[in-house]
Amino acid sequence: ENIVTIRNLSKIYRQGEINVTALDNISLDIKAGEFLTLMGPSGSGKSTLLHIIAGIDRPTSGECLVQGIDVAKLNESELADWRNQNVGFVFQTFNLMPVLTAYENVELPLLLTKLNRKQRQHQVNTALELVGLAERKHHLPRQLSGGQEQRVAIARALVTSPNLLVADEPTGNLDSASAQEVLGILQTLSKDAGKTVIMVTHDPKAAAYGSRSIHLEKGELSK
Ligand code: ADP
Ligand code: ADP
Repeated sequence: ENIVTIRNLSKIYRQGEINVTALDNISLDIKAGEFLTLMGPSGSGKSTLLHIIAGIDRPTSGECLVQGIDVAKLNESELADWRNQNVGFVFQTFNLMPVLTAYENVELPLLLTKLNRKQRQHQVNTALELVGLAERKHHLPRQLSGGQEQRVAIARALVTSPNLLVADEPTGNLDSASAQEVLGILQTLSKDAGKTVIMVTHDPKAAAYGSRSIHLEKGELSK
């Protein structure tokens, strides 16, 4: 069963006087539960593809269906709701709020939902346990290691129970031991929890954790 169906997708950015083709007529199917890695040189369109799938960016032409929904057809507020419910984001730089504890960072996406305090507490604690950080929930980001910060960010991405997790170079700022821990968590999420994980990476060792790897070259898919 496909969670993502992409057909003849192109993205053209206007840079002053010139048009830059970031994605050139891409078609791609992603199955539910896959751990897909996106590789390719800098500027090949990896982030653009990830952003379109996640509803952060819109295609210039073509179609991107996620769970049957043409995300580009949603208006801004529908898109924001859809994103909050269906997609978890993990970034290279963690993007945690420095003045909030691990617990409070993970709780943030739930403050936009109708869940009450007790329900939020249950989901936050479950997400922190899943990444092995229940004991660190009262720590601030600066009191955590980089690997622990990224695990908090994964818990935050998961706390709304999205089916789709997108990660842009999640191990780019980590030492190799922390990177392996984070990759192991992403792999478990896809294998055991049935999450679809899409990860951009430069590192072939990181890509090896995935179930399938695709390469982009100048906005086109290559094998
Ligand atoms: P990658 O993630 O593989 O490094 P990107 O998707 O970031 O590649 O970029 C692909 C191409 O699109 C590059 O030529 C980049 O300069 C261009 N691009 C990306 N985002 C923008 C933007 N917001 N405005 C203009 N050009 C952009
Ligand atoms: P403990 O930390 O021993 O679980 P606490 O009395 O500190 O006990 O917290 C009780 C519950 O409330 C815990 O499950 C905790 O995760 C949750 N909790 C609610 N809000 C917060 C918050 N802002 N920071 C940390 N924990 C919170």
